[in-house]
Amino acid sequence: MGQALFGLDIPVSKTSSALTCFTKDQVAEMEPSPCIRCGKCVSVCPSHIIPVMMMQAALHDDCETFEKINGMECMECGSCTYVCPAKRPLTQAFKEMRKTVAANRRKKG
Ligand code: SF4
Ligand code: SF4
Repeated sequence: MGQALFGLDIPVSKTSSALTCFTKDQVAEMEPSPCIRCGKCVSVCPSHIIPVMMMQAALHDDCETFEKINGMECMECGSCTYVCPAKRPLTQAFKEMRKTVAANRRKKG
């Protein structure tokens, strides 16, 4: 779980539970590439949702589809991002989409 940070100017706060630091080479290896539709993200998801489709919705800022395919059931566990051979930033995208959908819901009242 957690967010990837790429600079040292982010403060550690009382809500920070851990920091995992990688060397430069490990980070470079994690450049994302196009989805190869292997389905690994789907097979590991504990919420039984479909990360590969959720990512498509996220890439198009399509909140309606994201909600329709149960994107709000994501618990941001990070498993899909961890297993993705294309190193796609799935969890990060879902976190942003969940925030947007929640904000939209609040606006609608
Ligand atoms: S694990 Fe990655 S490459 Fe495989 S289907 Fe999911 S998003 Fe695509
Ligand atoms: S981060 Fe969300 S979509 Fe990805 S495996 Fe965990 S619950 Fe499923």
